[in-house]
Amino acid sequence: MSEIHELIIVGSGPAGYTAAIYAARAELHPIVYEGSVTAGGALMNTTEVENFPGFPTGIMGPDLMDNLRKQALRFGAKLITDDIVKMDLAGDIKTLEDGSGNILSAKAVILATGSAYKEIGLENEKRLSGRGVSWCATCDGFFFRDQNIAVVGGGDSAMEEANFLTRFASKVTVIHRRDSLRASKIMAERAQSNPKIEFIWNTEVIDVLGEQKVSSLKLRNLLTGEESEKDFSALFVAIGHTPRSELLVGAIDLDDEGYVQVDGRSTRTNLSGVFACGDLVDHTYRQAITAAGSGCQAALDAERFLANL
Ligand code: NAP
Repeated sequence: MSEIHELIIVGSGPAGYTAAIYAARAELHPIVYEGSVTAGGALMNTTEVENFPGFPTGIMGPDLMDNLRKQALRFGAKLITDDIVKMDLAGDIKTLEDGSGNILSAKAVILATGSAYKEIGLENEKRLSGRGVSWCATCDGFFFRDQNIAVVGGGDSAMEEANFLTRFASKVTVIHRRDSLRASKIMAERAQSNPKIEFIWNTEVIDVLGEQKVSSLKLRNLLTGEESEKDFSALFVAIGHTPRSELLVGAIDLDDEGYVQVDGRSTRTNLSGVFACGDLVDHTYRQAITAAGSGCQAALDAERFLANL
């Protein structure tokens, strides 16, 4: 507790690691809490990233994160694979407690805790999680070889999951609540032209059935109200994300959806010396490259703040 660090970065992923690269190069000796199970963030559960500039043939999500991590280490960032479980960010000296009970203090903090998978909110979705219900095709798709799989959602994540799952599944059915996709054109077209993918439109999943593992889904057509049951051995939920701001409730200004509010185009929060970046603040763009860009901004904002102290 005796040492007061210049900067602690909470969270990894493109935002946290980019902030770490910039802060380390500025000789702020940042301590980065990468997260115990979430180190690397959402891209660790992604397959090929085709649109991160600088990789003309694409790069696997985990490889991209590993590169950013190594780059942060190269400039002297101290990376800790643990969670921050408590934060007091209000005073001039911020105190943070990690999962091992260590208390650290710092003059500035960058929050980059990203977002978590959104759940449909069904009781049986939770009960059968890990037994056929999953949020990560790259983690769990392999278990459903030659089976009939459902994916819920109409965005890029759902299209990506569906395409990936066709490597294993005999058939993938995308269930979407509207009659048009939110996904980008290229991702939508790729899924729609895949012969193993079918679509059920204007439909929501209202229950997940099965004793020990998923056996079927109860569906409701949102136009007619008609309910039906269809056999599936897995359900992949890809309906977006919610910001991981649970530790910040009541401590910092959040918007109605739980995203940290920042001052204009900066990464400054309402607390002096506390900056936020990446998916934790962004409900519009949410791309790896925009998260990395905002991580860079956060490091520059923190650097200026520390220089002015
Ligand atoms: P998203 O774009 O917010 O899409 C979420 C989808 O889930 C929407 O189609 C939404 O329906 C549906 N949905 C939301 N809540 C639902 C609920 N309770 N029940 C049923 N359906 C629900 O989220 P995302 O697909 O995770 O993408 C997030 C961001 O990451 C986007 O900016 C995306 O471009 C980016 N991303 C990019 C790539 C890539 O380029 N390789 C891959 C993955 C993600 P509505 O359409 O009716 O709202």
